[in-house]
Amino acid sequence: MLYRPALVAPVRGRFAPTPSGYLHLGNAVNFVLTWLLVRQAGGSLHLRIDDLDRARLRPAYLANIFHTLDWLGLDYDTGPRNPADFDQHYSQLHYLSDYQSLLEQLRQQPGLVYACTCSRTDILALAPDGRYPGTCRHRHLPLSTPGAAWRVHVPDTAEVSFSDGWQGPTTVKLSHNLGDFVVRKKDGYPAYQIGSIIDDLRLGTTLIVRGADLLPSTAAQLWLAHQLPTTAAFNATRIHFLHHPLLPGPDGHKLSKSQQQPLERGVVAQAEGPQVVYRAVAQLLGLPPEAGLSLESLQQSCP
Ligand SMILES: [Zn+2]
Repeated sequence: MLYRPALVAPVRGRFAPTPSGYLHLGNAVNFVLTWLLVRQAGGSLHLRIDDLDRARLRPAYLANIFHTLDWLGLDYDTGPRNPADFDQHYSQLHYLSDYQSLLEQLRQQPGLVYACTCSRTDILALAPDGRYPGTCRHRHLPLSTPGAAWRVHVPDTAEVSFSDGWQGPTTVKLSHNLGDFVVRKKDGYPAYQIGSIIDDLRLGTTLIVRGADLLPSTAAQLWLAHQLPTTAAFNATRIHFLHHPLLPGPDGHKLSKSQQQPLERGVVAQAEGPQVVYRAVAQLLGLPPEAGLSLESLQQSCP
């Protein structure tokens, strides 16, 4: 079951949290899995914090990322050491011109990018599943329309296939799973997908470990990167993807940042300590329960 990233050398992985909430058990499990895979492969690990969601960012959430990694006992080789170091040297705000350049190239592709002025309420009224129904696709609004988001036209036939380290051969029908997705938000900031592609290319990432809920995002990024020669290196031959199952919350549904327990501080507030995370990782990897006693025992139990 366990993926063997030693097949690709050198392995370069990353933690990629977002400071938009306190990190929950699922985030911590993702960190430990990423760390194990990269360390087992003798690779290097970067801390890449996604702070383009300016509206939800809070200093306490940023600090919680460093606290959580420390609490879990996870080291990394490059990236910010603390919130001040992050703001000064690593924030995505330092790379806005790179993201803008990608948006500009996308804009120049005939028929790819269009402006959308729909509100969340408009979209939900037409599509209860929240998937954008393409309302503005044929309205030809200027991209400079104030408050407009930029979306990409995803053809009905768009499919992305790759070999996933956990799921095996995977095909995502993009129009069905995600629809015309946003590449530039209404506030003018580049969307998550843009930041993610550019950052992973800049870092030379070769291993991306994500929860299975991000499969549509991965497919969107692979499809988008494939549209331009400058981002073509973001592909599933060069980068190995692993989408691990999500841990269910107490109600059987996936854990979200707003469902963390206890709510105030996230997973680091677990009275039991980080063993609760190690145990969950052991369970996910199908290892015996004693493998989850510590980070060391997990590492020794991995094939
Ligand atoms: Zn629209």
